Amino acid sequence: MSLVVVGSIALDTVITPKGRRDDAVGGSATFFSLSAERLSRVNMVGVVGKDFPLTAIREFEARNIDLRGLEVREGKTFRWGGIYRKSMKERETIFTELNVFESFSPVLPPEYRQCDFLFLANIHPALQLQVLDQMEGKPLVGLDTMNLWIETARDDLIKAIRRSHIIIINDEEIIQLTEEPYLVDAVRKVRELGPHTVIVKKGKYGAELFHYEHHGVYPICPENRLEDPTGAGDSFAGGFMGYLASRGARECCYEDYHEAMIYGTVMASFLVESFSTDKLASLTDPEIRERLKMFKHLLKSKTS
Ligand code: AMP
Repeated sequence: MSLVVVGSIALDTVITPKGRRDDAVGGSATFFSLSAERLSRVNMVGVVGKDFPLTAIREFEARNIDLRGLEVREGKTFRWGGIYRKSMKERETIFTELNVFESFSPVLPPEYRQCDFLFLANIHPALQLQVLDQMEGKPLVGLDTMNLWIETARDDLIKAIRRSHIIIINDEEIIQLTEEPYLVDAVRKVRELGPHTVIVKKGKYGAELFHYEHHGVYPICPENRLEDPTGAGDSFAGGFMGYLASRGARECCYEDYHEAMIYGTVMASFLVESFSTDKLASLTDPEIRERLKMFKHLLKSKTS
């Protein structure tokens, strides 16, 4: 089943207690796609400048990623810089340079408009709405966002949430968005806007799934090492949506959502082991299978 993602494609400067990377390939659509393409073909919508490394574009092309929705424009690629302190829980944005993003207006190739699954990765909510407006079918819509848009583009963000079925958001953001201090109240408020599924990411405490009347709590997958958490949420979303798309049906059942949470968690656990896309790009299928097995075993031992 076809999966479309719109989001940022970036050159990131990241500093963590484990080291530093300058102008490394990143962005919400990048991490999402490299994670989802393991399970389902991904159609990527975004923009880069002429300075974006050709090797990275070749890397996408060599994978299960369709680039007809990728615009390469005169100018510089979107750049973002972040620093993580000791525990890596808190992240501080050091700069955001919009560059080609400033005048970006996504135009979907006609084939993408009939997609079955659409993910609105972290990007300005006005652009998320533009993509929704171009849909000709009735895709299952997932959405991610960040504190910046809750603060600066709240009205557009609420409009986009009203048109989504699944929202993937972190615990601080959902409380900021709803102004409800308790998670269950915050989730209820978001669901009143429209989404039937809310996934709350809680950093090293894992994630919670609220799907209709079901509720599931998922720990993180104990990874070998934590080097750079940038993109963990996007690669979680990629594993999650990639799994749903691989099931084929728009109306997935709770067991599919449960399995999708597992895939998302496992893909995010690989992402954090290295800077940028290093680990995601070099990951083998046996490594994924092995970790899925280990994580499922862990979940079973927690419930029995
Ligand atoms: P995450 O760690 O999942 O929050 O995602 C980090 C990625 O988000 C980085 O690769 C950044 O390039 C990207 N990013 C940061 N700020 C923005 C923004 N304002 N709009 C879109 N993408 C962003």
